[in-house]
Formats: sequence, C-alpha cells, structure tokens
Amino acid sequence: MNVYQSGGTNTTQIGYTNKNHQLNTGHKNASGTDHRQVVYRMLCLNIHCGHFYGANGTDVFQRKCPACQGGTDGIAF
Ligand SMILES: [Zn+2]
Repeated sequence: MNVYQSGGTNTTQIGYTNKNHQLNTGHKNASGTDHRQVVYRMLCLNIHCGHFYGANGTDVFQRKCPACQGGTDGIAF
C-alpha cells in the first residue's frame, strides 16, 4: 500500500491537528521506533515552516515541530 492511511484512534486520523498546530497526514505502514507503532507523517502548519517529519503514533497528540518548536528530531516516514 503506497497511500497514506488513518490509524485507529482519534489522534491518528488524517486531518487531526494537535495543540502545537502539527497536522497528522497519515501513515504507510512503516515501522516506528516505539513498540508496535507505525510512523505518521506530520506537517507543521506554522507560517513559514511547513516542515514534514515522521512521528510514532503514540507521540502525535503532543508532538512539536523539530524545525521551529524545538521538538525532537523526526523519524523516517
Ligand atoms: Zn515547524
């Protein structure tokens, strides 16, 4: 499957945006770095940023942008 898909929880749905303005754009079944997690592609919605990076499903709800908010480095997605 080469199409980005939603996960099974509220925060892993495509279109979910967390309090830090980080948008979940879905996963392609790539393995994350946390136990039994897949990698979600996150997009930073802050003006002048637009950074894409990978995050474990468990981190989506609290993730900060590694480019403009001092969040930890993204993982491969
Ligand atoms: Zn950013």
